[in-house]
This record gives sequence, C-alpha cells and structure tokens, in this order.
Amino acid sequence: MDHDTRLSGLPAPPPQGAAALPPGTYDGTLVLVTGGGTGLGKAIAAEFARLGADLVIASRSEDHLRPAQQELGTRVTAAVCDVRDPARIGALFDACPLPDVLVNNAAANFPVPAEDMSAHAWRAVVDITLTGTFLMTREFGRRHLAARTPGSIINVGASYAWTGGPGYAHSAAAKAGVRNLVETLAVEWGPYGIQVNGLVPGLMPHEDMTADIRGTLEHAADQDRRQPALRVGAPRELGWAATFLASPYARFITGHTLVVDGANWQRRALVGPPVVPVRDQMGRDPFTG
Ligand code: NAP
Repeated sequence: MDHDTRLSGLPAPPPQGAAALPPGTYDGTLVLVTGGGTGLGKAIAAEFARLGADLVIASRSEDHLRPAQQELGTRVTAAVCDVRDPARIGALFDACPLPDVLVNNAAANFPVPAEDMSAHAWRAVVDITLTGTFLMTREFGRRHLAARTPGSIINVGASYAWTGGPGYAHSAAAKAGVRNLVETLAVEWGPYGIQVNGLVPGLMPHEDMTADIRGTLEHAADQDRRQPALRVGAPRELGWAATFLASPYARFITGHTLVVDGANWQRRALVGPPVVPVRDQMGRDPFTG
C-alpha cells in the first residue's frame, strides 16, 4: 500500500540563531555544561550563550573543548574534567565562580547485546552517566547550600529510562537512575531554592555522533519516516528547551523530565512488527557462550 504523500509531519523549527526567550535572559549568569564541547552539549551551551550566559564547558578532552570554545564565543571557559573523579570536580568548582546552572549532559554509550557486555563496559557507562551525574550534582548542591544561593540543574536523559533499551542495557539502566535522581533531589533541595529537572532528547543526529551510534542509525535508512513527527529533531530544539527549564519563567517546574522527541517514545503500532533479537539486528553470530 502506498503511503499518503500529503502527510507533513510536525513543522520544521525556526532557524539556527533564533532564541526562544527574551534577549539577555541569562545576562550575569554562569552556566556549566558537561560534555559541552560536542554534539548536543555544545548545542545547549550555544543557546545559553545566545541569551547572555557566561559558560564553562567541561569534559575529558582538550581536543573536544578548544574548537567548541572558539565557536561559542569569548565568554566561554574550557575545563578539562572527568565527571567520575570527585577530586577533579572539586578542583573545577574551585577554579570558577559558582555556576547558577548545571547541565549534566556528559554520558557514554555504545550498543551491545547484554550477553556480550563485559563488566568493564557496564561499569564505564554507569560510572560516567549515572555516577558522574550524581558527583557533579552533589558538588553543585553542596556549594549552593553552603552559600545559601539558588540554582538550577538539568540532567540530560534518554527515553529508554522508562521503556528499557534493547542493546543498551548499561545506558538504559544508568539513565533510569538519572531520571530517578531528578525526582529525589527536586524534593530534597526545593527548600533551598535548587531546581532539578530532566531533559530527554529524541533522535537528534549531529556531526559528533560516535561511529557506533552512527553505524546503528545507518542500519535503518530514512530516519525521518521512522518518527511520528516525520522528521528527526534539531539539536537547537533541545537547547531551547534547556534554556526554558533553567529560566525565571520555569521557576515552579522542578522534579520534571521534559521529553523533546516528537512523541517517538510513545510510538506503538496497531499490530507490532515481528521481533528481531538484538544480536540479529546488529548482525552478530549466535551466542555460543
Ligand atoms: P556525545 O557526542 O557522545 O557527547 C558525550 C559528551 O560527554 C562528550 O562531549 C564527551 O567529551 C563527554 N564525556 C564523556 N565521558 C566523560 C567523562 N567521563 N567526563 C566528562 N565528560 C565526558 O553525545 P550526544 O549525542 O551529544 O549526547 C548528549 C547527551 O544526550 C547524552 O547524555 C546522551 O545520552 C543524550 N542523548 C542523546 C541522543 C542523540 O540523539 N544524540 C538521544 C538520546 C539521549 P570528552 O570525550 O571530551 O570527555
């Protein structure tokens, strides 16, 4: 059966460079974005910068941070920091004024069937994605509590936190923990003026995607037609959502996780497609032990 060629999907977003909030919304504000040198973290950082924020972008690799620092403008500090290391995190916070906003965007991910997953792979992803988010958040929270200042935290998640993610047992479990942390800490720290929210991107291809993830996407042609929106997301759409969530216009929103994915994660079919085991989808031979 031919599909209806008149379907338009969700409208395209405004162009790169448009801002969703009044100019200067973040004037005088410092925003710290982990993993801000690449991909979606860089896109989030760019939207905060457009609205006047000073930025700290933090990750492990100078090679990721330096080009992004140049691209993002003059009020950007690049800081080498591994979010798994509490001492490095303490040093990062010592080296700059206390940020008003923390965006926990750094994460690690690669697809692998659970039966093939090494303990090292599991630990690496959970340590960066879940423990790293907690350690950054704890440092930010401690310092704001001690200083009696308000703050806003955004944890970047993934929709398989709710649904599970075949091929991504480590990352899906870690993101479920990240989402849960949002709910716990919003209640613990609300009395101190600290908001904690989650932000979940849908499929938002970008030039920094790892070869593993890119390879999985290339397996399935025509990503636009696989989305209820009939298009994938643009990274700036995530940036706009982040700048709203941490803004004065969202002060009563906390403990919430906002999904920006064109409803892809709620997708169901009248009759489900045949089940294909993950190892078959990945072109792996049968598991023999
Ligand atoms: P990405 O390009 O792989 O970026 C990951 C970033 O995290 C990199 O900048 C990396 O920089 C940093 N990082 C990794 N390990 C770190 C560590 N130990 N300490 C500090 N920084 C570390 O990912 P992305 O596609 O932009 O995704 C960004 C976020 O969105 C992630 O939380 C991801 O789970 C989520 N997400 C993305 C999509 C999508 O469509 N792209 C969909 C759902 C969810 P260094 O290598 O320099 O450390």
